[in-house]
Amino acid sequence: MSDEMQLLIDLHKQNERQGPGGRTETELAIYLAGLGFDTHYKVADIGCGTGAASLVLADMLDVDITSVDFLQDFLDVLNTSAQDAELDSRIKTLCASMDDLPFNEDAYDVLWSEGAIYNIGFSKGVQDWKKYLKQGGVLVASEITWTTEERPQAIEDYWEEAYPEIDTASNKMAVLERAGYQPLGYFVLPEHCWLEGYYEPLRTSYDAFLARHSNSEAAQAIIAGEKEEVAMYEKYKSYYSYGVYIARKL
Ligand code: SAH
Repeated sequence: MSDEMQLLIDLHKQNERQGPGGRTETELAIYLAGLGFDTHYKVADIGCGTGAASLVLADMLDVDITSVDFLQDFLDVLNTSAQDAELDSRIKTLCASMDDLPFNEDAYDVLWSEGAIYNIGFSKGVQDWKKYLKQGGVLVASEITWTTEERPQAIEDYWEEAYPEIDTASNKMAVLERAGYQPLGYFVLPEHCWLEGYYEPLRTSYDAFLARHSNSEAAQAIIAGEKEEVAMYEKYKSYYSYGVYIARKL
């Protein structure tokens, strides 16, 4: 693993979330997915990070969750949190890549993925993962989304470089429909999911992170990258957010 990757893991694993989100929004997605409190569900949380969403799902529902990430460091944190919360009987972690999941077909009632599907691309993810869902099973995935039809060129250029698959919600819905899903719901993550839920806790950990790495150039470069991302968000937040998409396999 590269040194840069090690540094990114070290910076992010201390946080509750590795991307924008919040407990209320995970709960809202549970309601929109139509999940009931007295039904047993087999769930996979793909790109789970340290498991913020897995822990909410396990707390709210009668579930058997497979929480998948390709970074064991994040899964170690989740295993500890699950034990502390006495939810470890409901959460099993699995170190695997989301583009090569060792799942059986028609195995899951729910596929959950917050702030992670962009790693293989939304379109590929929803198509490739569909086979793991039972018929009528539900996919919940958050995805970077344009929240307006027109945007300043600077933010277009930034996302064209970072993730060219960014699109409007109506186009993302069409991707789901074409892939054989019935859209059930959609909402936009509010600003507090980015700031209080993600960037603020990250910001407060910069100094300790730099100290842990003796203020190395590589560590400073990581912080500079994070700061640039936050600055883009502050400036252009009216044009993009994460959209949360909830859809049923036909
Ligand atoms: N769902 C978590 C983490 C989001 S960050 C949350 O909302 O807090 C994205 C996560 O995807 C990271 O934990 C990262 O390690 C994981 N990831 C990135 N590429 C991956 C891949 N190819 N396979 C599995 N996990 C991956």
